[in-house]
Amino acid sequence: MLGAIEAGGTKFVCAVGTEDGTIIERVKIDTLTPEKTMPEVISFFKKHHVKALGIGSFGPVDIDKNSPTYGNITSTPKPGWANFPFLKTMEEALHIPIEFNTDVNVAALGELTHGAAQGLDSCLYLTVGTGVGAGAVVQGNLLQGLSHPEMGHVLVKRHPEDTFEGFCPYHKDCLEGMAAGPAIEKRWGKKGHELQHQQEVWEMEAFYLAQALMQYILTISPKRIIMGGGVMKQAQIFPLVRKQVQELLNGYVPLPQITEQIDEYIVPPALGDDAGITGALMLAKQILEKE
Ligand code: ADP
Ligand code: ZN
Repeated sequence: MLGAIEAGGTKFVCAVGTEDGTIIERVKIDTLTPEKTMPEVISFFKKHHVKALGIGSFGPVDIDKNSPTYGNITSTPKPGWANFPFLKTMEEALHIPIEFNTDVNVAALGELTHGAAQGLDSCLYLTVGTGVGAGAVVQGNLLQGLSHPEMGHVLVKRHPEDTFEGFCPYHKDCLEGMAAGPAIEKRWGKKGHELQHQQEVWEMEAFYLAQALMQYILTISPKRIIMGGGVMKQAQIFPLVRKQVQELLNGYVPLPQITEQIDEYIVPPALGDDAGITGALMLAKQILEKE
């Protein structure tokens, strides 16, 4: 039995499952403070006697294995979680091998092994929810450099009719500041799901997301782009994003995936909300394979 954690800012999903990606049991635990949340998380895995554990965590996190603070959540504003030694806490409680990465990198891995990017060796997973974040698998490996990339904060050109200042506390009008769920709510005065039939809302949303996708295509060149998160439940965004990506690239990347079959290139997650937890299970599986 393998263990998996998808640790989010509002809830932890903990699951046990098998090497083929089947989830056998799962629980949801509220993200309160580490003192309240972690004992519940730990007791779930102790009960199931897992052999290895994969963790995909909200961030920013330290994923550098050579760093003294490897496995810590770093600078989050979430009370109690800044500098929390997440990995170390789990290792000391369970005494099993554990792999640790970002929520979005792990979601990319889940979609690659069991979802919309099966059979490929690279993909990018973008989530548009309370924030915007992206992870990627490149040539079979989770994307990592100096740290994990923070693709949700790339700069975007402002829409000529947009007067919203942006809500990113660091950059104001970066992608997250202009296109995450709270940006939609602050700009239009209603939550995304209440704006479903207002075409201009989604045209503007696609305007920002397409710019980011263009940057990702030009820098990482992923073989597929998967867009998930609460905001992307508005399925009408997909055709708008695809069209704007093609217009922005303007034929510069002359590959059929982009010029002809973009419907299969920019896609929703095949695993729905299970991309992260499935990817975390696959991280645990990788530990056993290495051993
Ligand atoms: P989180 O990012 O916290 O994990 P979600 O991915 O569900 O959670 O994102 C929450 C954000 O997405 C909120 O700003 C919410 O308004 C927005 N959202 C959730 N569902 C929808 C929907 N069906 N249509 C549009 N926006 C939505
Ligand atoms: Zn930002």
